[in-house]
Amino acid sequence: MKTAEQPVPTLPNIIGGESVASTSARKLDVTNPATGEILGEVPLSTAADLDLAVKKASAAQKAWAKLSVKDRVQVLFRLKALMEEQSDALTELIVRENGKTTPEAAGELARAIECVEFATSLPQIAAGQVLEVSRGVECKMYRYPLGVVAAITPFNFPMMVPMWMAPTAIAAGNALILKASEQTPLSAIELARLFDEAGLPKGIFSVVHGDREIVEAICDHPEIHAIGFVGSTKVAKLVYERGSKHGKRVKALGGAKNHLVVMPDADVDMTVANVVASATGCAGQRCMAASVLLAVGDVDPILDKIKAKFKSMKAGKDIGAIISTQAKERILGFIAGASKEGAELAVDGRKSVDASASANGNFIGPTVFDHARPEHAVSCDEIFGPTLTIVRCKTLDEALNIENNNPYGNAAAIYTSSGEVAHYFMERANAGMIGVNIGVPVPREPFPFGGWNDSSYGEGDLTGHGSYDFWTRTKKITTKWTDKNRSNWMS
Ligand code: NAD
Repeated sequence: MKTAEQPVPTLPNIIGGESVASTSARKLDVTNPATGEILGEVPLSTAADLDLAVKKASAAQKAWAKLSVKDRVQVLFRLKALMEEQSDALTELIVRENGKTTPEAAGELARAIECVEFATSLPQIAAGQVLEVSRGVECKMYRYPLGVVAAITPFNFPMMVPMWMAPTAIAAGNALILKASEQTPLSAIELARLFDEAGLPKGIFSVVHGDREIVEAICDHPEIHAIGFVGSTKVAKLVYERGSKHGKRVKALGGAKNHLVVMPDADVDMTVANVVASATGCAGQRCMAASVLLAVGDVDPILDKIKAKFKSMKAGKDIGAIISTQAKERILGFIAGASKEGAELAVDGRKSVDASASANGNFIGPTVFDHARPEHAVSCDEIFGPTLTIVRCKTLDEALNIENNNPYGNAAAIYTSSGEVAHYFMERANAGMIGVNIGVPVPREPFPFGGWNDSSYGEGDLTGHGSYDFWTRTKKITTKWTDKNRSNWMS
């Protein structure tokens, strides 16, 4: 807790490899969502802070880009080893600043490490093609880094989402500036320490804390050439439009409202376990979380078991905390509003908080709204809490129609034992990531992560194979050494 005797530290920006105090007088408390403990103060940095970071990054990047990609990834091998060695402490840090459970934090760290592992394979991906396009004339393509690039990230995966971008962008020869969520800035500082310990030259990975002001400064800065953004749809659109207006390459992943279709032939136990895990994991604060269950026909035996499981779970024990008191109030607003709109509050999580949980934590237990209509707020809005809305449908086409008409398009899933039905759904669902009997269909590397529609703005990918394209630009070289082979006008 913050007391007069024990003031909490103000977090530094990490610029040019050094801890640097922000020039801003604006600060926010960083709070452990599960206990209310104040962990530090995060400065809301200024455009001047960013400018210094860009200058240092730009100077360092020139030497970094001169190394071969094989040399650059050596740092990542060391980084991976360090993250594995220090996994307990890193897991604990995620728990403290984000409020998720220890197994969830360990899972997040494992995914962050997997992203580093993918980036170590960049030399294999970077091996290019050569084609004799005409007798004696060869074409080949070289890739070059963009220079200084930025990543702007959300609170819900403070270690994984930055690592979706940083390892590949850096291995590709860029210098990356991370603007992490002001609600979870500690992991960003820890990542900077790990990169430093792994031997990354100073200035190649920087951290500048802040809020809207610094995000706008990133969009406007002439020497930042690309932005990877992950967060809500509202801000994704703002960043995409503002960054693009300044001629930057921008990929902005936004929010979600994911639909899971349950068919009568679904495997009962697998479906129950999977839906519950998808909706309640990370207290529902995942862009891949199950949000609306479209129940096709008579699937009550499955729904009854899902509700029973929800009822048995306690916040503060089985599921973690909500990130802030404001976010908790917002979720409570949805719970209060659902009955007024005509949905049935089948499981009310407002009181399902474990006795061992801190009274100062932001907890809400798993909640189910049944017999909701597609137009209800709980069926349309991203709640970002441990809730599941059930909408009853007569046919798969009716369910598909509801899914297809939602403005988002991150993930959609179907539970069925029929390959034919799964294929029918997979072909028609209007989302970028589809699950078959999987409620969190995260495409792991080398497949890229990303949705459609209002869940994604801009071209390209931030992860997987496509991320190498996003963080580089190409130069096409056409070579001829002799005229002896001339066969047509092209040569
Ligand atoms: P957020 O949009 O509030 O914040 C994301 C980033 O934008 C933060 O760094 C924040 O400081 C900054 N920001 C916030 N408001 C801003 C404004 N008005 N102008 C400029 N910058 C601003 O998101 P969040 O609450 O941190 O994270 C939750 C959201 O992120 C959910 O909507 C979730 O679905 C989404 N998300 C999406 C993905 C994905 O891959 N599609 C992954 C994780 C989270």
